[in-house]
Amino acid sequence: MDARFPYSPAEVAKVQLVQFGILSPDEIRQMSVIQIEHAETMERGKPKPGGLSDPRLGTIDRKIKCETCMAGMAECPGHFGHLELAKPMFHIGFIKTVLSIMRCVCFNCSKILADEDDTKFKQALKIRNPKNRLKRIYDACKSKKVCAGGDDLDVQEQQDTDEPVKKRGGCGAQQPNITVDGMKMVAEFKAPKKKTDDQDQLPEPVERKQILSAERVLNVLKRISDEDCLLLGLNPKFARPDWMILQVLPIPPPPVRPSVMMDTSSRSEDDLTHQLAMIIRHNENLRRQERNGAPAHIITEFAQLLQFHIATYFDNELPGQPRATQRSGRPIKSICSRLKAKEGRIRGNLMGKRVDFSARTVITPDPNINIDELGVPWSIALNLTYPETVTPYNIERLKELVEYGPHPPPGKTGAKYIIREDGQRLDLRYVKKSSDQHLDLGYKVERHLNDGDFVLFNRQPSLHKMSIMGHRIKIMPYSTFRLNLSVTSPYNADFDGDEMNMHVPQSFETRAEVLELMMVPKCIVSPQSNRPVMGIVQDTLLGCRKITKRDTLIEKDVFMNILMWWQDFDGKIPAPAILKPRPIWTGKQVFNLIIPKQINLIRFSAWHSETETGFITPGDTMVRIEKGELLSGTLCKKSLGTGSGSLIHVIWEEVGPDAARKFLGHTQWLVNYWLLQQGFSIGIGDTIADAATMEKINETISKAKNEVKELIKQAHENHLEAEPGRTMMESFENRVNQVLNKARDDAEGSAQKSLSESNNLKAMVTAGSKGSFINISQMTACVGQQNVEGKRIPFGFIDRTLPHFTKDDYGPESRGFVENSYLRGLTPQEFFFHAMGGREGLIDTAVKTSETGFLFSCLH
Ligand SMILES: [Mg+2]
Ligand SMILES: [Zn+2]
Ligand SMILES: [Zn+2]
Repeated sequence: MDARFPYSPAEVAKVQLVQFGILSPDEIRQMSVIQIEHAETMERGKPKPGGLSDPRLGTIDRKIKCETCMAGMAECPGHFGHLELAKPMFHIGFIKTVLSIMRCVCFNCSKILADEDDTKFKQALKIRNPKNRLKRIYDACKSKKVCAGGDDLDVQEQQDTDEPVKKRGGCGAQQPNITVDGMKMVAEFKAPKKKTDDQDQLPEPVERKQILSAERVLNVLKRISDEDCLLLGLNPKFARPDWMILQVLPIPPPPVRPSVMMDTSSRSEDDLTHQLAMIIRHNENLRRQERNGAPAHIITEFAQLLQFHIATYFDNELPGQPRATQRSGRPIKSICSRLKAKEGRIRGNLMGKRVDFSARTVITPDPNINIDELGVPWSIALNLTYPETVTPYNIERLKELVEYGPHPPPGKTGAKYIIREDGQRLDLRYVKKSSDQHLDLGYKVERHLNDGDFVLFNRQPSLHKMSIMGHRIKIMPYSTFRLNLSVTSPYNADFDGDEMNMHVPQSFETRAEVLELMMVPKCIVSPQSNRPVMGIVQDTLLGCRKITKRDTLIEKDVFMNILMWWQDFDGKIPAPAILKPRPIWTGKQVFNLIIPKQINLIRFSAWHSETETGFITPGDTMVRIEKGELLSGTLCKKSLGTGSGSLIHVIWEEVGPDAARKFLGHTQWLVNYWLLQQGFSIGIGDTIADAATMEKINETISKAKNEVKELIKQAHENHLEAEPGRTMMESFENRVNQVLNKARDDAEGSAQKSLSESNNLKAMVTAGSKGSFINISQMTACVGQQNVEGKRIPFGFIDRTLPHFTKDDYGPESRGFVENSYLRGLTPQEFFFHAMGGREGLIDTAVKTSETGFLFSCLH
């Protein structure tokens, strides 16, 4: 626990309410410890009193105590000072709100322009949310050009005692049109009406357009009554509109803008200090000019200079404004840029903090470790620590670790610190005397990580709870995190350069939480969709399909080697399926070793068709497991993947998370060993269909092309009937699409039928490990129609898609039908259309990821 906040038995108060508001000038003065008067920070080597590093503001020096609270640098958070501004100034963050309030109230008497006779105003008053109400009241007021009620003023004055004043009693003043121009506010009056020329109107518009000083605006805002404030959505107790104009500037203490000592004599000040010094200087100049009675235009100029520096102090990235720069020309960092954007205080320091006891590197796969294990490089294991309390049970082990210290011999781990019972911390790097290495019960040793320690492992973006899971570590050579392939799917990780983070829990409580709630095996079944999120993937999945085929037989030598990968092997070799002439085992027998004995289920392979019936189907598609014995069926993604009711799901539910973990591990080890001996590869040969099939495919495509030609002819002769709800053109496009899609499907079907059982592409697709039937048919038969925005390729040139075609060609070739296969090769036009279609997909994914990221940051 933090030494600054020792344990207290006092009851902790509950937060009742959080109230936001604007600081009034008086509040700023009250919370200030000192009025700042000088721009200089130092005077003769010492902080200047009344300057920007006055010692009463707090300390940034370890040796010096704060003069206000007498605390040291670690405890004193600093205290605000204040600067009295020579003239009121606009606050750039409030200028929009000030503008809408100014447009709602009379320029002359500060009453709200609309009255209760106005239906819009009446409706606006019903809105509870103050922010929305201001918007609606503004809507009701913006059309009002005169402070109404002025005409009946005289009448009312004569009889005001008789009946209460019902009218809003406006002053009748004409309202200017107020706009904001950068940091200036401009009021523009319409030309005065001739009608009232005999009376002397109240605000005689001298010039039609005048710049409103903050002072003038302040006077208007100050006169707004408390009742009107409430109507405008501001609670006068916490945020009066006139407080949005700066009269007093709070000066943040040095701990927020610390100066850096370059060497013993010179120091470099923070950007904020620089900018504050500029503000103080310009404020002083303005005050002097006023005192000397300078002409109005000079004073306005000086005021505008001060306004500029105050605005850029808050935000130096105002649109249409020059940047305030350092002497070097570098733009000054404003308060706003400290908070904003990705590296700002909110998104950079509060939402994504750097933390201790964490590590990050590239991930690489390791199929030989368990799914709940994590390979950790030595360099990381010897840097991170876990504080272990010395007990009679571990004192000998910890003594050895302390002996090794921070630089243990190869293959060993050591320790970094000893923490005595009084909290004294001993750095083992500098301990030379062996008496200092002494351990007592109750001491803590910050030891290096060991094999079997529990850690948290995480990949960003963390979109569901399985993005952070608990792992047991296993220290390994080289510099990457190693993880099992089955655990990549919940993290959404691959190995093309992905990096992941590891966190080391620092107490028994956190370790227990990791162990009981977050370990990988406990996360196999997701509560989000009650199905597993991990399954067999990639080459293991392909291996499972191949090893469980009926004609897969394993010779004795290979089977014995497979048994060596089985952790529960007790030396008893299962009886071979074939005894004579030599003992031979089936591939299914490998699974008999690792499926838990209490499992019984019947599932079907992915390519099972309803026509195959009976206990033993011709295609061996009925997966039948009885008492943990795989009796029939070929395993594939459907039985070993992440689907609900898959083998992994059943084992997890029936036997438990640990059995599921073991099954996933064993399946990989045994099957991978077998697949390595068996061998697997694909090549061009796997994409070639036989001559008869190619003939059939060409036939289907040319038939479809002729059909489209016929459709075009019908359309030309106006014989084409428009489908209900579609225009002529739409129905034509629809019909063409139907024809071409059918052609592609037909070609796909015949290509598929031609592929033999020994085709390696087909093996991967049926196993579910990589690729789909569409990929096969695009390689062997026909790539098919290319689409942009769900339509055939549009006419990008005049009446044609590319200059290669004649105008008004609506045929398949000119609108993006790719009749070639990847194997035969695409024509230049086809290649271009294909690139158009492919590009759209890339843009979609890019836009979607950036959009979800933006939406996410909006949530906070
Ligand atoms: Mg990647
Ligand atoms: Zn202090
Ligand atoms: Zn008025």
